[in-house]
Amino acid sequence: MPGFELFGEAERKEVQDVLNSGVLMRYGFDNQRQGHWKAKAMELEICQQLNVKHAQLLSSGTAALTSALVVAGIGAGDEVIVPAFTFVASFEAVLMVGATPVLVDIDNTLTMSPAAVAQAISAKTKAVMPVHMCGSMADMDALKSICKTENLLLIEDACQAIGGTYKGQNLGTIGDLGCFSFDAVKTITCGEGGAVITNNDLFAPLLDQYSDHGHDHLGSNRGTDGHPILGYNFRISELNAAVGLAQARRLPEFLRHQKHYYHILKTALARIPEIEFRRVPEGGEESYAFLNFFLPTEEQTKAAMLLFADQGIGDCFHYLDNNWHYVRQWDHLKWGNALNNLNEAQKIGLALIGRQNFQRSDAFLGRNISCLIKLGMTSTEVEQRAELMATLIGKVV
Ligand SMILES: *Cc1c(COP(=O)(O)O)cnc(C)c1O
Repeated sequence: MPGFELFGEAERKEVQDVLNSGVLMRYGFDNQRQGHWKAKAMELEICQQLNVKHAQLLSSGTAALTSALVVAGIGAGDEVIVPAFTFVASFEAVLMVGATPVLVDIDNTLTMSPAAVAQAISAKTKAVMPVHMCGSMADMDALKSICKTENLLLIEDACQAIGGTYKGQNLGTIGDLGCFSFDAVKTITCGEGGAVITNNDLFAPLLDQYSDHGHDHLGSNRGTDGHPILGYNFRISELNAAVGLAQARRLPEFLRHQKHYYHILKTALARIPEIEFRRVPEGGEESYAFLNFFLPTEEQTKAAMLLFADQGIGDCFHYLDNNWHYVRQWDHLKWGNALNNLNEAQKIGLALIGRQNFQRSDAFLGRNISCLIKLGMTSTEVEQRAELMATLIGKVV
């Protein structure tokens, strides 16, 4: 997945442009910037590549999720449904806007189960936030249909799946809003960065205003800009955007590369009849950032992971007891260990998560191994890695 493995001249050139002009801010300084608008250029690049009307580049993926919720009008007393297998940013963003996260089980797609979503809907539910984990997608037709019937917003966290598609549409462009992260370990990186994309003409200016203290960006003087709404600072710097612009232009190259290595790995592992690959919803194409598969039992999966560690196979994850990606280790959430006051609805909601049973998700994650597709390797190294993995798994199944 990581673009940082393939840094080069293109990234250096874009950063040098910014240093040469000395304008590190994405807004204003029109005369000094020598024509360089790196954040704007990256937004345009994203819009063109993903075929979407609006992109707002921000300081992180977490800022993107938070801003998406805010412009959708979600706040105190509202509930947002998120999967139990994700990254902590999902519930962090929901709590940040004053809303209450409601966690639901995943299925064999490793993303939220539409049946679990349907069951979790209450009168307070405002949005459903699927997370396209490890390069592949949730069952978007089923989720879209639920959201339409129940009049809910659909906000996609596509942070780990940029470039993946579903029935010809890019992930992130299917719901009302889509979010990406360009942090240091994502498919394309700004160092730190993120984006919200949308085809909604009402949300787009709000994203631009909210992420810059409410500035309406109408005049040529920031000091006299109007502030139609209360905002915040989730701006990205031109230095970060410069790196991301070069990386975004290389996205098609990264995706081709990922796909090639993914297939080498999958072909080797497919020889083992006990391996079952993650389900990709019909009409979906993964971004190939990871290869995900299930072994028959949790014990075999743990044994395979031990052999991997022993033989130096890194970058494969067994997420069942992972601190950052799965509810089992989120005691800080269940206990509401916030530094500031949570509202009553949030306290009740978090206590509920502490008592909730996630056996269905446990069953999938217990048997899952998720292997990062490394762009920095040569194809020979990938082939050797694939053969070794197949041999080691063969010993435990
Ligand atoms: C990385 C990630 C985020 C958060 O992105 P940051 O840029 O690190 O804030 C959110 N959701 C998922 C699924 C992620 O993988």
